[in-house]
Amino acid sequence: MTKINNIEWSEKVQYLNDIMNLKPVFWVNKHKDNFEEASKKVAYSMADVQDAEARLERFAPFIMQEFPETAPMNGLIESGLTKLTPLKEYLEDKYNTTILGEFYLKRDDTLPIAGTIKARGAIYEVLKYAETLALEHDLLNGIEDDYTKFSSEEFQSFFRQYKIVVGTTGNLGISVGVMSAKLGFEVTVHMSIEAKQWKKDLLRSKGVTVIEHETNFTEAVWQGRAQSDADPKSYFVDDEHSVELFLGYTVAALRLEKQLEEMGIKVNADHPLFVYSPCGIGGSPGGTAFGLKQVYGDNVHCFFAQPTHMPSMLLGQITEQFDKVSVDDFKIDGKTCMDGLAVPRTSGFVAELMSNFFDGGYSVEEEEVHLLLSKMVDLEAINLEPAALAGVPGPVRLFTTAEGQDYINMKNLQDKMQNATHIAWATGGSMVPAADMEVFYQEGLAVINK
Ligand SMILES: *Cc1c(COP(=O)(O)O)cnc(C)c1O
Repeated sequence: MTKINNIEWSEKVQYLNDIMNLKPVFWVNKHKDNFEEASKKVAYSMADVQDAEARLERFAPFIMQEFPETAPMNGLIESGLTKLTPLKEYLEDKYNTTILGEFYLKRDDTLPIAGTIKARGAIYEVLKYAETLALEHDLLNGIEDDYTKFSSEEFQSFFRQYKIVVGTTGNLGISVGVMSAKLGFEVTVHMSIEAKQWKKDLLRSKGVTVIEHETNFTEAVWQGRAQSDADPKSYFVDDEHSVELFLGYTVAALRLEKQLEEMGIKVNADHPLFVYSPCGIGGSPGGTAFGLKQVYGDNVHCFFAQPTHMPSMLLGQITEQFDKVSVDDFKIDGKTCMDGLAVPRTSGFVAELMSNFFDGGYSVEEEEVHLLLSKMVDLEAINLEPAALAGVPGPVRLFTTAEGQDYINMKNLQDKMQNATHIAWATGGSMVPAADMEVFYQEGLAVINK
C-alpha cells in the first residue's frame, strides 16, 4: 500500500465524507513538491513534450491537405483564447466575490477535426502509430520525408491491413475514429452507455464500426482492449494507460505559451497563471498541466474539475490509491450530465504522475453546470457541451473557499492576484448538434427559473 504522507487523517476523512455526500469540495494537493523536486521523481520531461510537438509539425502538411479547415494554422490543430468579461461579471455578482485578474476561456471546443480536447491526444497517438508502422516498413524515407505521402493510395492500402480499436464515452472515439479512418485503418469504437446517439451516427458515417455497450466506461474499455489484444495487427488506444495520449496533450502548453506571448500576457512570479481543466480519466488535464509546468514551473497553478457524482481523480489523489479506488467503492452513483467526464476510475499512470504536479482539484454540481452552460450562451454566445463548463467556476472556488484562500496565502500570492491570468479550459462543444444543444440550454433555463 502507498505510504500515507504527513497529511492528517482527519482532514482526509473530512474530504472523503464530503465527497461521499456529493458536496462540492476544493482540495489542495499538499503532497506535491516544488517543480524542480517533482521533476526529479518522474520519467518524463520537456524533451518528451518537444518530441511530440516535432511529430505534429511533421504531420502538419498531411493534416492541412486532408483537413482544409486546419489551413489557417498551417495544419496544426489549435484553438484560440477568448476573454470572458460579461460572464466574469455575472460570476462575481452571483457568488458575491471579486475575481482578481483576467479571465479567459481556452477554446478547445473549436478545435478542428473533432471539436474537443481529445483531438490533441488521440490524433497524436494515431499519427505516432502510423508513423512508426511507415518507418518500420520503409514506406517513409526517415522523418525528413514528405508526410503528404500519407494521403497516397500506397499508404492507404498498407494501413488497411491494420486495425485501431478504442473504448470511450464518445469524444475519444470521434478523434481516434476520424483520423484513423482518414489514414486508411480499419477502426472499431467501443462506446459506453453514456455515449450520445449523434456521436455514434457521426462515426458510422465515416465508415467506423461502432459497438454499443450497456455498461460504463471502464467496461467498454475492457471489452475493446480484449478484442484488440487478440489480434496482432490491431492497436488499442488505451485511455487508461497510454503514454502517447498523455504526451499529445502536453503540446498544448507550448502553443499556449506562444499565444500568451502574442497577446502580451505575462506569466512569471509576479504574474501567476491559473488553469482549471475538466477531468475525466485525467489524461487531458494531466497532459496540459504537465506541459504547462515544464514551461512555467511553479508560476502556473493547475487545478482539475470533476462532477460531484464522478469524483474519480479526487478520490484517487486524496486516498493516494490512484486507480485502486473507484467511485463505486464510495457508493457514489456516477450519474452526470457531463458525459466527457463520466469515468468511474482514474488512470493509474496519470494520477500517480500528476500527484507530483497537480496543485489541486474541485468538484461541481450538475445544476451549476446546467446554469453556466446557458449563461455562456446568453452572455458570451459560446456553445459548450456540459463537461466543458466544469473549469469555469474554478476562479470562484479559488476566491470563495477557505481552502482556496489558504492556497493563495500558502503560495504568498495575496498581493499578486490582481496580476493573475485565469484560464478555464473549454474542452468541447462545437460539434454538438443544435437540437442537443437546445436541450442543454433549456436545462439551464430551468435551473435559472427555479
Ligand atoms: C474527455 C473529455 C474531458 C476530460 O479528459 P480526460 O482525459 O478524460 O480527463 C473533458 N472534456 C471533454 C469534453 C472530454 O471529452
